[in-house]
Amino acid sequence: MVDGVKEVCKKKWRAVRCCYDFSANFFQKPTPVQIVGESRARELEQSAQSARLALQAWWANNARDLPWRNESTTPWGVLVCEVMSQQTQMSRVVPYWNAWMAQWPDAAALAQADKADVIRAWGRLGYPRRALRLQECAQQVAAQYDDRLPSDYDELLALPGIGDYTASAVLSFAFGKRVAVIDTNIRRVLSRAFLGIESLGGSCTPLERALAWVVLPKAAGESAVWNQAVMELGAIVCTAKQPLCEQCPLRAQCAFVKAGMPGLGERRTRPRQKFAGTDRQVRGKIMQALRALPTGQTLQYKDAQKLCDDAAQLDRCIASLDEDGLIEIVNGHDMRLPA
Ligand code: SF4
Repeated sequence: MVDGVKEVCKKKWRAVRCCYDFSANFFQKPTPVQIVGESRARELEQSAQSARLALQAWWANNARDLPWRNESTTPWGVLVCEVMSQQTQMSRVVPYWNAWMAQWPDAAALAQADKADVIRAWGRLGYPRRALRLQECAQQVAAQYDDRLPSDYDELLALPGIGDYTASAVLSFAFGKRVAVIDTNIRRVLSRAFLGIESLGGSCTPLERALAWVVLPKAAGESAVWNQAVMELGAIVCTAKQPLCEQCPLRAQCAFVKAGMPGLGERRTRPRQKFAGTDRQVRGKIMQALRALPTGQTLQYKDAQKLCDDAAQLDRCIASLDEDGLIEIVNGHDMRLPA
């Protein structure tokens, strides 16, 4: 009787497992090779192999001398650079990164810093919420990981302010792991050089993601150099509107040049909103005025009114800064940097 029950249970379990296997296979994501197509993937791999040496030589002679590329930079330093350079050109990041790392060389140091000092040190890098998220990340790394940035993708992704790009960049640049790093510059170079089409911006397409994996060198060490070199090429040679093809190490094999550069500079995204007059600009003015004040001093509302003619817009911006935790409201309407 008991055996009979066991048998029924086993049968049911096999049926459940069979359903599970079926659904797992059914819903499994296609691999990069499947997305690109097997024969196309082989062609792309070969093409990437011949591009690799030219690109490595170019990188050895042309990489900009940026402080975080120094061998002594810690994974934490790489993360700080990656967060600072989101939406901000790397050349602008250099003085901020140098000062930041001198003041807070590791996660534990940043974790204990005053919020107001952190916001001040972020200066004019823009999007200052990133500074607060970086400090939250530091607090978590210091508390949970004994001040060492984890080298696991899922653990990185679970930290505040770290998304797919930043996690991949840290794994590749700081830990030398084989992972495709996919940012706007890399998408543009790979799409042009190997597919012969313009990358239109917006969200990364499955084909762009698959391409980045298919052409990535198999050896982890080579893959990290490849990621950095392709990204650098996109930043200084294969630029969006006026690529300097005559200086490009990929020119001889570039599919985009061969195709006559169809759609050069086309974008899927709408042109950027003008900065002047936007809430972003007003928020920036308020933050700048607060950063310029001596520590602990308050910006009075009547002084903030001089920063923006539109009273409704000013109030909206003050409210949103308060909501983001970037300011504290005192006396009902004056403001200061958070303690
Ligand atoms: S040859 Fe021109 S378009 Fe092609 S990858 Fe180089 S810079 Fe970009």
